[in-house]
Amino acid sequence: MKTALVTGGTGGIGAAVCRRLAADGVTVAVGFRAHRAEAEALAREIGGAAVLCDVTDPAGVQKAIDNVLEKFCQLDILVCNAGVAWQGLLQEMDDGAWRGLMAADLDGVFHCCRAALPAMIRAKSGKIVTISSVWGTRGASCEAAYSAAKAGVVGLTKALAKEVGPSGITANCVAPGVIRTQMLQHLGPQDLQELAEATPLGRLGAPEEVAEAVAFFCSDAAGFITGQVLGVDGGFGV
Ligand code: NDP
Repeated sequence: MKTALVTGGTGGIGAAVCRRLAADGVTVAVGFRAHRAEAEALAREIGGAAVLCDVTDPAGVQKAIDNVLEKFCQLDILVCNAGVAWQGLLQEMDDGAWRGLMAADLDGVFHCCRAALPAMIRAKSGKIVTISSVWGTRGASCEAAYSAAKAGVVGLTKALAKEVGPSGITANCVAPGVIRTQMLQHLGPQDLQELAEATPLGRLGAPEEVAEAVAFFCSDAAGFITGQVLGVDGGFGV
């Protein structure tokens, strides 16, 4: 039986990933920041555990990984999914907003990978999946910090794939396009319509469609695949 930690496990994509991995027989630790009750309910539903994991806090991340190892004795899969967005003109972004976004979207991936790797290296196996964005490969107007952080996630994933490949660990990245979750809540129907029209497949994506790609990277079928970025974006990034 494999064990996974999914950060941001109560969010739209995170919850879908937790459910999808559980359907594959994986024991899932649902990482949460603010939504303990939701995480506990999801953990009950899928037979996993809820684990406090604010990815901006390195000591807290270490504690979360230690908790998973204590409960399940192993960590086979790490899904770095937690993230936040910030929209606005770059010249109007203050230092706090920049640091806050980087702390969650890029530092968080670093903290989680660093804490998870010793157990994976000891086991000589492991699957790391990071969640970037189409904006990490294309660049988005009014989302420069988000694009920078998500491009950083791509770079980190590729570098890590080379670094930990000899230890039997894969590191791959999923880059979603526009997916219907809370992250889009600031957008009105007109904006959503325009984004659907800008997507070659003519619609927004569902969290479950992102979860399929994550599950693939975590499966034995992807055993010889590492350092890759898979767009799940309806063609938006082409
Ligand atoms: P949601 O807002 O639904 O979920 C985001 C999740 O991240 C929440 O569970 C949130 O927890 C968690 N989170 C935020 N900050 C932290 C933190 N410091 N520590 C731990 N958890 C944190 O958005 P999505 O499900 O859409 O986003 C998931 C990932 O997918 C993100 O990395 C996002 O950038 C990426 N993505 C999303 C796209 C989309 O169109 N939806 C497109 C491309 C990429 P809490 O609620 O407690 O803060």
